[in-house]
Amino acid sequence: MDSSDDESGEEYLFKIVIIGDSAVGKSNLLTRYARNEFNLHSKATIGVEFQTQTLEIDGKEVKAQIWDTAGQERFRAVTSAYYRGAFGALVVYDITRRTTFDSIPRWLDELKTHSDTTVARMLVGNKCDLDNIRAVSVEEGKSLAESEGMFFMETSALDATNVNKAFDMVIREIYNSVS
Ligand code: GDP
Ligand code: MG
Repeated sequence: MDSSDDESGEEYLFKIVIIGDSAVGKSNLLTRYARNEFNLHSKATIGVEFQTQTLEIDGKEVKAQIWDTAGQERFRAVTSAYYRGAFGALVVYDITRRTTFDSIPRWLDELKTHSDTTVARMLVGNKCDLDNIRAVSVEEGKSLAESEGMFFMETSALDATNVNKAFDMVIREIYNSVS
């Protein structure tokens, strides 16, 4: 039986965007989550528009359509179409590059400007496998997230630490807010 024929007949589709400076690991977070793949030499220019992941929550089929930039962030040219209709966002920095952490408020402003609804937001400090060359402490990440009312998690797309957890939390938060 097809899942769309289930008794409840309910299905959810949520758009989630991934934003943050160039090379923080956005594309790899998505491929780790959606395909369990990592690429050491990923090219910023190759971008699929989105990948879809299906979860079951409360016996209902919940689909997350997760969008990745095609590298436009290098030119500060992420378009409003990218944000349109998003219910969730992962706002990513690289724990080894402070400038990417300093950019977070700008990304939050941009998200706010372009979104027309409440967005479930998670601050993501990626590349936690590189703890030995860390430039942003866990405390700083936590504290920024707290002051912005966001969730916080450090992740590694390379070794998969917290990647599923981060996406799943955002998806569940959206689900809880609409159901
Ligand atoms: P994007 O520009 O934000 O999409 O970043 P990419 O996903 O293209 O990653 C940029 C670079 O960082 C690539 O060389 C990746 O292999 C590397 N990278 C991404 N995530 C991680 C991670 O969690 N740990 C480490 N060590 N490298 C990562
Ligand atoms: Mg990318």
